Formats: sequence, C-alpha cells, structure tokens
Amino acid sequence: MGSDDLGCPVCLRSDATRRTIESAVPMKYNGSFENRTNLDSAYYIACPACGEFVVTHMDDVNLKSPPERSRWNAVHLSALLREQSIRPLPKFWLRDGMDPYGPLERTDLAPISLDELLTRWPRTVPERIDRTLCNLARLSPTGGHHILLDTRDTALTFAGTEKEARYHVTALLRYGLLDGKIYADLTPSHFALTPEGWARFEELTRGRSAAENPVFVAMWFGDKDEKTLMDGVFHKGIVPAVGRAGYLATRVDFEEHNDWIMDRVLGGIRLAPFVIADFTGHRNGVYFEAAFARGLGTPVIHTCRKEDLSKAHFDTLQLNHVLWDTPEELEMKLYHRIVGTIGRGPHPPQRDSK
Ligand SMILES: [Zn+2]
Repeated sequence: MGSDDLGCPVCLRSDATRRTIESAVPMKYNGSFENRTNLDSAYYIACPACGEFVVTHMDDVNLKSPPERSRWNAVHLSALLREQSIRPLPKFWLRDGMDPYGPLERTDLAPISLDELLTRWPRTVPERIDRTLCNLARLSPTGGHHILLDTRDTALTFAGTEKEARYHVTALLRYGLLDGKIYADLTPSHFALTPEGWARFEELTRGRSAAENPVFVAMWFGDKDEKTLMDGVFHKGIVPAVGRAGYLATRVDFEEHNDWIMDRVLGGIRLAPFVIADFTGHRNGVYFEAAFARGLGTPVIHTCRKEDLSKAHFDTLQLNHVLWDTPEELEMKLYHRIVGTIGRGPHPPQRDSK
C-alpha cells in the first residue's frame, strides 16, 4: 500500500482510516466491441472530519488528483458527507464523474454522485445554523446529553473556517437553542441542546420529506376484473419490496371519496422520501401525483405492467420503467431498483411481509 492509498480523499486528512472492500461495486465497461460488467474494489473511509463513506479505487485516485480537486469544494463536500454519517441513514457511496457503474447489489450503501451531493449545501447562513443544530441534536441520544464540541471541527458546523464555526455555535447559544460556553483559546467544550433547541429540531425535521417517513405509492386500484390483480400488486409486489429495502409503504385509498382526500395525497407525497408510481391502467391521478413529486424534487420510481407500457403517455414513455408480469416479478425488480437508485432505508428490513 503506497502513500497514495492513505488518508481521506475529500479533506486529505492523514488520520482517516480506510478498509478495502474487494469487488464491492459493479462496473460497466462499454468498450467499442463489448459491453460487460466488471467489479471494482472500493474503500470504506472513516474520517474524523467527513465521517464514513465509500469510494471506488478509481474515484479515490480521481478525488485526490490536483486538477480534479479544483472542480469541487472540499469544505462543502466534507460537511455534507459528515451530515449523512450522523443521520440514521445508509452511508454514501460517493461517485465522481460520469456513470460507469451498474446497479448496486449491496444493501448498506446509498449511491450518490459528487455533483448531486454538492447541490445539498445550505446556501444561507440561517440554514447553516439550522443544519448545525440538527447535527448536534442527532449526536445527542437523550435530552440533557453533553456533546464535546471542538470549533476546529468545521465540517460538523457547515463552516469553512474556525471563525465561521464559532459564529454558528455562538448564534445557537444566543438564540437559547444550545447551552454551554465557548472559550477564547478554542478549547473543546461541552454543549447541550436546551428544550427550545429540541423544539426547533422537531420543527425543522417534522413535516419534511425524510427516509423515516412512509414511501408514497401512486397506482390504479383496478376496476372489477383488475381489482384482485392490483391489490396483489400492492400487497405482494410493492409492500414487500419497500419493506425489504428498509422503508415503509402507504397508499391513500381512493375508495373513500371524501373532499379532503386530495389534501391527504399531497401531504403524503410531501413527506415521502420517494414515490413509486405504477402506470398500469394509465390513470390521470397517477400521472398527476408523479409530476407533483418530481416538482418537489422527490425521486419517483416508475413501474408498469409490460402489456400496458405501449399505452404510456409520450412524456413518460422515455423514462426507465420497472416492467412486470406478476406481483412477484415486480417485488424482485422493484427491490433492486430502490436499493440501486435510492439506497437502503432506515427501518429494519421486513423479510416475511408477503
Ligand atoms: Zn475527510
């Protein structure tokens, strides 16, 4: 192992530890004469600043190379990786550049491209202060827990410099959201969230799309002849696939035609970590719900019975649908699509829900 194989490829700290995972990720090789799938080795990085994440050997080299590094902001990337490590979510498989990889078979990683991750950087100062509070709340197992906070740890506080980190922490102290004292000599000190701090954390995290919330399922409920099939699609196809991937599934039952049903639909989509839209039967409601989710920036997985796809609307026909003949086929394919494109969820996998 040469010195190139040491340290963190994002912040370049030499005290980060790494573990090689052999044949970790599938790599597509699209040569001019062949199209095959290889496996690439990867590293599991544990960095005191950036937290824990996975990179392939190839991306590790790219991330550390000087010309490549000028393309992205290491401070931002470090903070965003750290935030994911603190949340109760799968660790990121950080992918640099184009998309040379096939669907991920591993169940414990959430693949994300470097550019996509960087779009999550909080753009305003109040947002950075809020996200700092959320990090500190998630590091506190109970109320009254004291966190040892070092303002040199700028990734934790979404800061570029120690001065900025101290500013964010001081703001939380002044708002009465945090209890503790910052020392002039930068000595690490203990802080605890105040009751107001916990209330603010709840306010910030409640009513938002989160992996812990139920996945929203938009689908046709079936006419007389198709009702049994579509019930099977939900209960034997979608629910077990979502459960096995570590999420919960919900659908709003259109049988109850109440006035407030649309509010429930829109609320459910707003909270969902992602939406599954099954286009079998081509109901307008499904197109509407999928489009609403896309507008919110929520990922949508499209599924459809094979014989129904040709009737799909031109705008969505070009999208990559999970095609199925039976609920069992849908279960298997959908599970892999969720894990491959969104990553594993925070709930324990449900294996016997069929
Ligand atoms: Zn790092």
